[in-house]
Amino acid sequence: MPTMKEYFEIAERKYMFVSKKPPVVMEKGKGMYLWDVDGRRYLDFISGWAVTLLGHCHPSITRALVKQGKKLINASPAFYNKPQVEFTELLLGKSCMDRVFFVSSGAEANEGAIKLARKYGSKFKNGAYEIITTRDSFHGRTLATMAATGKEHWQTLYAPTIPGFIHLPYNDLAAVEKTITDKTIAVMIEPVQGESGAIAATKEYIQGLRKLCDEKGILLIFDEIQTGYCRTGSFFAYEQFGVEPDIMTLAKGIGGGYPLGALLAKEKFCVFEAGDQGGTYTGQPLAMAVGLAVLREIIKTDLPSHVKKMSEYLVGRLRELEAQGLIANIRGMGLLIAFDAKRKSGADIVNEALEKGLLLNSPRPTSIRLMPALIAEKKHIDEMIKIISTIL
Ligand SMILES: *Cc1c(COP(=O)(O)O)cnc(C)c1O
Repeated sequence: MPTMKEYFEIAERKYMFVSKKPPVVMEKGKGMYLWDVDGRRYLDFISGWAVTLLGHCHPSITRALVKQGKKLINASPAFYNKPQVEFTELLLGKSCMDRVFFVSSGAEANEGAIKLARKYGSKFKNGAYEIITTRDSFHGRTLATMAATGKEHWQTLYAPTIPGFIHLPYNDLAAVEKTITDKTIAVMIEPVQGESGAIAATKEYIQGLRKLCDEKGILLIFDEIQTGYCRTGSFFAYEQFGVEPDIMTLAKGIGGGYPLGALLAKEKFCVFEAGDQGGTYTGQPLAMAVGLAVLREIIKTDLPSHVKKMSEYLVGRLRELEAQGLIANIRGMGLLIAFDAKRKSGADIVNEALEKGLLLNSPRPTSIRLMPALIAEKKHIDEMIKIISTIL
């Protein structure tokens, strides 16, 4: 059997380079922990990038995969299938939306949202197509979602860029008000900016956007790919802002680790005509069975209440580090929390944590983001805090 070092070297030589990775090759996961090829254990506060919300290899997910895998894996997008219908009903029952279209990733879900908004503009708003998004936002890695994303560098990376996106400062309602024209069709926003380091929108901003969009007859799109599915302590983040979006996108947690995304909309905005949208893997039975199992488990265990409790506990423990002068600027919602480290760079903290068996993410040079599985318990939080305190 190759050693981990050998596995790593093969990957470094043969896997297409897209980012620098630590010399670790993962093999196994259970609950809050991952194990590498050498059998070393890691406490996971990344959770597949805010994805494995029930932890690694949750029995309900494994069971659904095996059971559905024996029955039907793909029936073609030409037909509806049973788990798809069941999942559709249960999911819509949890949300304020009327219809859903399933895809396999977040970027695809957002592409769908952009298409739907542009279609609505071409049908009902004199061809309005511009979408206002925010600086430092993240919406995905397809060409259109990269253009929607508020990273300056991405506006020229694969030029020519898809036109029709305007990036305004986050939490700046006046800027949106000034920028809306006859060409504007939608405002697209993350209720909490995840990739830029857990920056939450203010209630006034979100409620102001809702009011503004209603007045101007344009769409409010929530990218809840990271914030949805209990991550922020309510089933969807929009619930905590007291507004409902017109279109919402989901991914990450919705599949509990299995690739799955969803585009949801109010009836009025479901304007696709035959052939306008599709996808070979839309609503495929295996993904639908997993999605259904994840959602049933969330409902059964009342996951949002657990997240609220653990969020309070986590923030409380971080406040202790803050009081010791080790960290500052604790922010975020639910179990999507970030802070700034005062004495060490984010990258150094991530590397030292890895050596000590803890997985962390540093979204910004000085900040650390925590996005554990939503089943995390006090003992996991304590274990994480202990390692971080040692490092700091
Ligand atoms: C992760 C993420 C995406 C992209 O999802 P992928 O599945 O990686 O395509 C889009 N928007 C937000 C807010 C995200 O966090």
